[in-house]
Amino acid sequence: MASAPIVPDEHVRVRFCPSPTGNPHVGLVRTALFNWAFARHHGGTLVFRIEDTDAARDSEESYGQLLEAMRWLGFDWDEGPEVGGPHEPYRQSQRMDVYADVARKLQDGGYAYSCYCSTEELDARRDAARKAGKASGYDGHCRDLSAERIAAYQAEGRTSIVRFRMPDAPITFTDLVRGETTFTPENVPDFGIVRANGAPLYTLVNPVDDALMEITHVLRGEDLLSSTPRQVALYAALAEIGVGNGSTPKFGHLPYVMGEGNKKLSKRDPQANLNLYRERGFLPEGLLNYLSLLGWSLAEDRDIFSMEEMVAAFDVADVNANPARFDLKKAESINATHLRALAPEEFVRRVVPFLFPDAEPTADQLELLAKAAPLTQERMVVLSEVVGMLGFLFVRPEDFRLDEADAAKVLIADAKPVLAASVTALEDLTDFTPEPIQATLREALVEGLGIKPKFAFTPLRVAVTGRRVSPPLFESMELLGREETLRRLRAALESVTE
Ligand code: GLU
Ligand code: ZN
Repeated sequence: MASAPIVPDEHVRVRFCPSPTGNPHVGLVRTALFNWAFARHHGGTLVFRIEDTDAARDSEESYGQLLEAMRWLGFDWDEGPEVGGPHEPYRQSQRMDVYADVARKLQDGGYAYSCYCSTEELDARRDAARKAGKASGYDGHCRDLSAERIAAYQAEGRTSIVRFRMPDAPITFTDLVRGETTFTPENVPDFGIVRANGAPLYTLVNPVDDALMEITHVLRGEDLLSSTPRQVALYAALAEIGVGNGSTPKFGHLPYVMGEGNKKLSKRDPQANLNLYRERGFLPEGLLNYLSLLGWSLAEDRDIFSMEEMVAAFDVADVNANPARFDLKKAESINATHLRALAPEEFVRRVVPFLFPDAEPTADQLELLAKAAPLTQERMVVLSEVVGMLGFLFVRPEDFRLDEADAAKVLIADAKPVLAASVTALEDLTDFTPEPIQATLREALVEGLGIKPKFAFTPLRVAVTGRRVSPPLFESMELLGREETLRRLRAALESVTE
């Protein structure tokens, strides 16, 4: 390989290596985040690798979504798709010859062997072992087949998979999160690395690429903990056959994320779907801030921080081994805090795609938005709320609609005199700015009709903004302008039935 020689323990090389199946999910994002923060903290290298060797499950669409998600989240990577690197290609589907070569070398060296057992035979022996109370993994049947036996199996037309020969001693490694971890041989039987049709499996391709790409630290979810002893054994064999630089990465397993009902958050859980957060208008920095808390914290009393602060502070030794709880409310509240902290022009920039999904806003619309944005920035949790909050300013008069439930509740007979008096009062108002609007309406409604402000202004709010929850009323009227405000008040008045 053409890469610079690595100095173990000095240069950090980590990888993010998802399989392109389904939608990107929050578990995946957390793994990417921790690897990214670790790499950046150490001035190391983040390798982005696509593990797409399962043609039946992987899709090009998913691949595109992954890349798009990584960009949206603001991650950068040093090697991988779109940026290249010394270990190209970074899509495993394009590296099949590499795996075939390694599998052959492993077999030639006696580290792996052909297993001719049929599924039925494996099942029957597993059941028998279980009944006898013995370990039920692969029993080593084909470990040392004689040449005659192999010839006989082949003559029968049996196919074979390639199986890796596990050492007969326990495997111990020091997990960066969980500390010393040991697996006994009974728990880690010989395992398949190449299918009968020649397709290499995750069990082979993942450690082979980690070795070839000189990965120094593997940070990944705890669900993969059980594959670690196999990979540790495989690394040792790879070192023997001269694949990679001979060193084994350090492993750190990130804690499970628990969802609703204290069950593991599954990638199919709607709560886990990254696209959903994006569509609702989470800020990438808000979502990442929240996800960083799933197993890590900056300081005991600091929930809100920037990615720069996380990078500066991130140490995998601080990752907590206990399961983390996914808490949507907390995610929202953290996002809201980031949203409030945006500079006004940045807030505007971020809400534009939500308010104007189809076409770029005009200069006038942008100017209006810049004025309206401060009225709502403090009140929002996610960006998509801007549509409900400020949409009333940008719809064409003929497209303006009242929220049906709010209208049914508020625009009732009692509202009629209120709307009528408001129209009359505002018709004569020349200075159409918040203070005079407020003073005029107060005089007409609170003093004139003797209605409490609380009741006086709600029908106006619904009539003008379409909803009971809106930006401040008088500012909204100003931004909407006199003519359109009056038009909406009159329309609401007409719509009220006795
Ligand atoms: N492609 C594997 C996955 O998405 C990678 C696991 C690992 O990090 O080793 O589960
Ligand atoms: Zn076998």
